[in-house]
Amino acid sequence: MPDFLRDPILFTSLATLLGLFVGSFLNVVIHRLPQMMEREWHAQAAELRNEPLPQQETFNLATPRSRCPHCGHLITALENIPVVSYLMLRGRCRHCSAPISRRYPVVELLTAVLSGYAAWHFGFGLAALGALAFVWTMIALAFIDLDTQLLPDNLTLPLLWLGLALNLGGAYADISASVVGAMAGYLALWSVYWLFRLATGKEGMGYGDFKLLAAIGAWLGWQMLPLTILFSSLVGAAVGIGLIVFARHGRNVPIPFGPYLAAAGVLAMFWGQTLTGLYLGTF
Ligand SMILES: [Zn+2]
Repeated sequence: MPDFLRDPILFTSLATLLGLFVGSFLNVVIHRLPQMMEREWHAQAAELRNEPLPQQETFNLATPRSRCPHCGHLITALENIPVVSYLMLRGRCRHCSAPISRRYPVVELLTAVLSGYAAWHFGFGLAALGALAFVWTMIALAFIDLDTQLLPDNLTLPLLWLGLALNLGGAYADISASVVGAMAGYLALWSVYWLFRLATGKEGMGYGDFKLLAAIGAWLGWQMLPLTILFSSLVGAAVGIGLIVFARHGRNVPIPFGPYLAAAGVLAMFWGQTLTGLYLGTF
């Protein structure tokens, strides 16, 4: 492996820069993956009903090229530089001046900062590269869940397998803690779901949440699950109460749990050991 990457400052800077461009790609994933899934479901439903498959133009993460949703102007490479283009264009389409969502530079910056931190925290090696994949997937999942109340299996399941695979070599936890973590993560939320459902007759969360916590358990080991659940519930409850009180968000409007789980997962990956140590140390 190249020796210059061992320099922490250089490695951190490179990871931050890479994060900017990955963030730009994550914007595409967040926007298109749910639409790709919906097309797939329509195609499957048509097949089951023996109807002709709906005629569709190619639609995936690479095709078609991005356009302004307002005027259809094709986004050029120069208009697609993460954060920089947004600032240069002052947040507006160059062709029709329609405002560009602030979400795009926010996702790019968030990805850059967390990627840089992952590189700094772990230092050059397999653990840092894995942490990048973990953080990127968490960002995609959090925003997709926020938009659509979905946590796609084609993100949560590969994440789970990758966590188990990396822990074969003990990258973040030993393999038995990792396997138990995957099982316990799934079962913990599955039980909450069924208790809530039996008690209230409503669905409090979705199966995607169980798979996401299973993946977090597979990566970090079962020891990190209490902290992850505690943190995501506290922040989720605070935001939920805030929304109901201040934004008059209806009590029955679903609030996605995935973004809090994802945030708690990232927190636990970086500071879980420290936080658990502090907690245990106070007794
Ligand atoms: Zn436009």
